[in-house]
Amino acid sequence: MKTDMEYPGTAVAAFIERLAHAVGDANVLTDAADVAPALSDWRGFYKGRAMAVVRPANTSEVSAVVRLCSDAGIAVVAQGGNTGMCGGATPTMDGRTIVLSLARMNRVLALDPLNYTITVEAGCVLATVQQAASAAGRLFPLSLGAEGSCQIGGNLATNAGGVNVLRYGNTRDLTLGLEVVLADGSVLGGLRGLRKDNTGYDLKQLFIGSEGTLGVITGAVLKVFPMPRTSVTAFAAVPDPAAAIALLGRLREQVGNRVSAFELISRRSIELVLAHIPGTRDPLAAASPWYVLTNVDDPRTESDLRSALEQALGDAVEDALVTDAALAESDAQAQALWRIRESIPDASKSEGLLYRHDISVPTSDIPSFIEEAGARLEAAFPGVRIVCFGHIGDGNLHYNCYVPGRMRDDPVAIAATDVNDVVFRLVHERSGSISAEHGIGQAKVAELPHYKSAVELEVMHRLKRVLDPQGIMNPGKVI
Ligand code: FAD
Ligand code: ZN
Repeated sequence: MKTDMEYPGTAVAAFIERLAHAVGDANVLTDAADVAPALSDWRGFYKGRAMAVVRPANTSEVSAVVRLCSDAGIAVVAQGGNTGMCGGATPTMDGRTIVLSLARMNRVLALDPLNYTITVEAGCVLATVQQAASAAGRLFPLSLGAEGSCQIGGNLATNAGGVNVLRYGNTRDLTLGLEVVLADGSVLGGLRGLRKDNTGYDLKQLFIGSEGTLGVITGAVLKVFPMPRTSVTAFAAVPDPAAAIALLGRLREQVGNRVSAFELISRRSIELVLAHIPGTRDPLAAASPWYVLTNVDDPRTESDLRSALEQALGDAVEDALVTDAALAESDAQAQALWRIRESIPDASKSEGLLYRHDISVPTSDIPSFIEEAGARLEAAFPGVRIVCFGHIGDGNLHYNCYVPGRMRDDPVAIAATDVNDVVFRLVHERSGSISAEHGIGQAKVAELPHYKSAVELEVMHRLKRVLDPQGIMNPGKVI
């Protein structure tokens, strides 16, 4: 990277001029007000600087922009919907950076219903991809709370998970082909819709989950599935997480692989939603310490799905795994139940400084993890309030907490890692992951070396050096 001395105002102006030549004047934003939204994350935790927000319209323009940056030693921060949880899309304070917005690359390029694939540009909003698949009678199953604004390129770059991983896998599992602009501007074309292709290293996998540190994803070929014609959502009160895990096992046996989502929600999470999200109401009459929200679906219209689910829940009530349950009677009711689950992140912004952990352990270890983590946190931080929910079907918890006296606007409290240390140490003891689905970004870049082996880290550094020798792709993130 070059130093400030080598970047006098005239050089910056000339560089901006070259960018404008590549993508058009209107697509190089430099006014402070236009650039500002791209310089912080949705929680307002991270702040950065950039010379410009550049909005290319297609892959060749991305290539041209990255080449200019490579020639000038300017960093490139790819940005999708800017809904990421780890500050990955927020530039550093360095300033010798552009934010590369994929927002204009939002076309669905093809849908092949018989190959069960959809081909999209990286800037497509996730909900748009879902709708395009749906219009052709197909399901694109990736689904998460931010789907109305996150982009498929961001989903790929973070290997997003969401609520349907249990049945359909995470973004990585949904990807057949990828097109990437590399750090020197060359285009790694791979928009192939093949389910079998053993012709050497599977290069696309390197870029999925790399959070913009190895290249800019410009397009993808993704798997779609038969559209569910019958779908049932149930909300069940369970006495404890162990009962929830046992219930999941039962459902898989009795309903088969039609269980698409299985979420654990603590009472405190529900209370936060009821307190802060207008129009929500308690789904069951009596409060329970824990709940499960599950969805089952079937591509057939005539299906025994509802009766199979009722039977399984009835059996679970008899065996005291479930204390009460409600099945949604309409799409509106199902949506209201899902709204509660999906509003938890927003609702928990409202009550002070939240320490977030997106962790995974083997699914069978979830109950003992929750018990042990709670005990260790209470011992270290008396009065800690834990907001626990997540995709327990995948062994993934959003295990968040408020520590008494720590405020949202206190930089010392924000920077403190003592809470994370307690949680991550336990995760590590259980051979789990300190980031199950949100990534590393800048939030966990300092923590990663403590939880990855030296050899794993060294291989990551070697790959980074090979693919991005100048270190211009999203510097300061991941490694
Ligand atoms: P951004 O935030 O813009 O970027 C994220 C990272 O990807 C950055 O490092 C960025 O540089 C990089 N990037 C973006 N686009 C590209 C590209 N085209 N090429 C290369 N790199 C790129 N996440 C989950 O996994 N599961 C959930 O259930 C979930 N629920 C959420 C609920 C809410 C309410 C919110 C706000 C977020 C949630 N998230 C969840 C986090 C977030 O939505 C995902 O990480 C999402 O995949 C980010 O997409 P984005 O387009 O907003 O990416
Ligand atoms: Zn999640």
